[in-house]
Amino acid sequence: TLSVGSVASPRGAALDEAARRVIPGGANTVTRWIGSPYAFTGADGAYVTDADGRRYLDYHAAFGAVLLGHNHPVVNQAVISAITDRPDLIGLGITELEIEMAELLTSVIPSAEQAVTVMSGSEAVAHSIRMARAVTGRPLLVKFQGTYHGWSDSVARNMISPPERAYGRDPLSAGILDAVLDATVIAEFNDLDSVRALYEAHPEQIAAVILEPIPHNVGALLPTQEFVEGLRTLTREQGSLLIFDEVITGFRHSLGGYQQVCGVLPDLTTYGKAMGNGFPVSGLAGRRELMERFDTAGGDVLMAGTFNGNRVSAAATIATVSYLRDHPDFYERTHRLGQRMRDGLAALLAENGISASVSGFGGTFNVYFVAPPVRGYRDLLRNDARAYVTFHRRMTDKGFLMLPIALKRNHVSGSHTDEDIERTLDAAGAVLKEMAAE
Ligand code: PMP
Repeated sequence: TLSVGSVASPRGAALDEAARRVIPGGANTVTRWIGSPYAFTGADGAYVTDADGRRYLDYHAAFGAVLLGHNHPVVNQAVISAITDRPDLIGLGITELEIEMAELLTSVIPSAEQAVTVMSGSEAVAHSIRMARAVTGRPLLVKFQGTYHGWSDSVARNMISPPERAYGRDPLSAGILDAVLDATVIAEFNDLDSVRALYEAHPEQIAAVILEPIPHNVGALLPTQEFVEGLRTLTREQGSLLIFDEVITGFRHSLGGYQQVCGVLPDLTTYGKAMGNGFPVSGLAGRRELMERFDTAGGDVLMAGTFNGNRVSAAATIATVSYLRDHPDFYERTHRLGQRMRDGLAALLAENGISASVSGFGGTFNVYFVAPPVRGYRDLLRNDARAYVTFHRRMTDKGFLMLPIALKRNHVSGSHTDEDIERTLDAAGAVLKEMAAE
């Protein structure tokens, strides 16, 4: 469900109109389409500025790609020096920056012995699935209802599905071969039995189980320890790979991602978004014997991309990840502020007698307008998307930018302060009070 703020934005509307003439629907990615009139012209720290000069405290964070804060001087400086002092894209061999980046990634991601970097999370996921099929010689992929793993055909199904299509056949796009869609089978998050049932139905056919360890594309379903450990044991017993898609959780929840938090090591990990603090970069890491199946190492699995490892992405990654490594208090701080936000929202909802559940982990937070407990996607089918839309629109009108899609999460970044959280809670208190009175 998409929603917009309701404050007039003449310059934003003009830009929107100009965009729609030359860009389909006026947006370069579907999730950026929010019905307008938003067009942004500036961003700094925890704030963004729209085309009409209105400032918003930003919890959207470019879908989580911004982790340290917008326009971060350390990352910007690293990129500027990469452009001026490092070799231009040449297209043969390796550069020092790429080695430094891979050394850093393998040193901080617990399951990573080797790493490759690509340009988007979708590419990283597509490579990981092809690798799983090559290594196991099996066709099927297990995905959970509610997770998102990018636009590639194998995973473009069953994200925010309406009740009538949840767990059934719910493609995200036209134009995908039935055979490809049907090679992905759907399980319920936090329900190990639903995965066991798929193994029973398709013996020795499942190449891999892929999951967002916290499905942030539907807010934040928190995995039980039993579930992640159970998946590890089950996939190992069944000869399948376990793929953690840490495109959102990676670097955001801890330096080593959610695998470091839960202590369960996947065979392959995809990561992206926050690792370059807004610059385009993503990657895939895993055990050496798997990664050496890529044809870059003489193996049989295609790994290609003209811009992979380019100097801008590499410099941004090195700057962001080493900043996080050198500032361990970053996690203590964002987790504390995130907890403050979640506790504050839960108290305000209770005070106003609104039946809702606050979810999140670390610096992320979301309000589900559904009574607790929320364990899996099944519980989210009862979510009151209209209540979220009202909440979101009124918060936006007050200058607090959150994701305009019911069920998604919001982000506290390195540049939010205690005062920002307090101001947000004050505004949320006023909005929830209004909603309770209507
Ligand atoms: N995996 C997850 C968990 C994601 O959230 C996303 C993007 N929202 C992707 C993969 C795809 O990444 P990208 O948009 O960079 O292709």
